[in-house]
Amino acid sequence: MGLRLPLRRSASFTPDHPALMEVPGPPALKMEANVLVMGAGSVGKSEFIYSHNLTVDGREILFHIWDVPNSQEHAEEGSSEEKRIQWADSFVLVYSICDRASFNILPLKIQFIKAAKEGQSQEKVPIVIVGNKRDLQHQREVSSEEGRLLALSLDCGFYEVSAAEAYHGALMVFHGLAERIPDTKLALKKGTGIRGIVKTMSAVFARKRTDSL
Ligand code: GDP
Ligand code: MG
Repeated sequence: MGLRLPLRRSASFTPDHPALMEVPGPPALKMEANVLVMGAGSVGKSEFIYSHNLTVDGREILFHIWDVPNSQEHAEEGSSEEKRIQWADSFVLVYSICDRASFNILPLKIQFIKAAKEGQSQEKVPIVIVGNKRDLQHQREVSSEEGRLLALSLDCGFYEVSAAEAYHGALMVFHGLAERIPDTKLALKKGTGIRGIVKTMSAVFARKRTDSL
């Protein structure tokens, strides 16, 4: 299965086309999800904190994303990782395609997550594996097939992206994650209105554009 670009609606959410933002769609269910971004140091995890709101299948999902600062990554005790796993209801596991070791640690991490979460309920844990830095092809150490096979064997989603290069990479990841979260696992949130959501998306695009100047 190749990469899909399922983000039809978000493609309209550009600051350049304010008229498109006024189109009233069917009222979306407003929901929240807690996402833990995990992986080795310097694989690009912090690039994923920019995605906050997405509309997927008529559900507007506000993602709360927990990104661990580098300074804490090494000093960390196992117990605080366990606490974060308890807090989260979905997971993004990032490795760098140029860093074999960052890929090799994923199976254990995923088994750890599954043991912690699936003990509580029989439902599948929503997990997406992300091979980041795909722009650095000449430094590639992990093939796309290996990533896809790992995801298949552990029943996870899989994307290869360049999070720092293109914002749609992170959007695809959160879209894929949303598809794996059943309605029953999403907490309903108090409505903020479509305008608030659109503004947030625009702000995100504006910020990334400024970053890349
Ligand atoms: P973290 O330690 O996992 O949070 O990694 P960071 O998000 O801090 O990223 C580490 C470094 O990798 C930074 O210099 C980023 O700019 C860079 N980086 C992140 N994503 C990509 C990418 O997709 N391509 C390239 N070439 N560099 C990236
Ligand atoms: Mg970081």
